[in-house]
Amino acid sequence: MAGVGCGCAGPMEWPAGAVSPLNIPSWRAFPLRARLRELFPGRPVLVHNDGVALAAGEHWAGAGRGVRNLLAVTVSTGVGGGLVLGDRLFHGTSGNAGHIGHLVVDVDGPDCPCGGRGCVEALASGPRTVHRARAAGWAPAAGQPADGHTLAAAAAAGDEIACRELARAGTAVGAGLASSASLLDLEVAVVAGGFAQSGPIFWDALLAGFGRHAGLAFVRRLRIERSDDPGRIALRGVAAFVLAPHRYGWPD
Ligand SMILES: [Zn+2]
Repeated sequence: MAGVGCGCAGPMEWPAGAVSPLNIPSWRAFPLRARLRELFPGRPVLVHNDGVALAAGEHWAGAGRGVRNLLAVTVSTGVGGGLVLGDRLFHGTSGNAGHIGHLVVDVDGPDCPCGGRGCVEALASGPRTVHRARAAGWAPAAGQPADGHTLAAAAAAGDEIACRELARAGTAVGAGLASSASLLDLEVAVVAGGFAQSGPIFWDALLAGFGRHAGLAFVRRLRIERSDDPGRIALRGVAAFVLAPHRYGWPD
């Protein structure tokens, strides 16, 4: 065995690999990397954000093969992402590069879980989109959970409020992609997560939002792809951390 690569929801201390995933409350500063090192002594153990794993996987063996500059985005309970720049995984100063979820797309927008306001995540995450729809009067059918999946199904069935709020989420992600492409001169953006798979209401709004905010020719050239199998691609990404360290690894 060459080593162990691991993707985990953030936030985390990187590269130390102490993780505090918002959706696993019992893990706060949990020493995931240290525990894995105890289990696999003498092997490289690399832990990074799941959005970063997706970016590495899409670049190594997915929609971004052969591309030099790529952003991967996951739209789920939160909105995360990862970046490949100049043909290499780009970590930033603290390992948090690619955090498109906290790119501001509405300066007067709603408060965000990060403490800021008007972020992509505040407008496009599953819980925030459901919250907005519920406040506007949408309710799931009896016995159904009020979650992103149910909301997307209601939108697909023609519910007006669900359609509007799902589209607003898509618009926010599209605007975030336009801003990202403008800053980073990207070639490809790959979008994953439940809303991305939910159908044309979210996706058409995303493309329209991008089109409205992408003014310059180099920004408009961004190719936007839907990740066809994010779970499998992210697994390839964590393998790439270990197996292709010249592009996807990092020093301790
Ligand atoms: Zn935020």
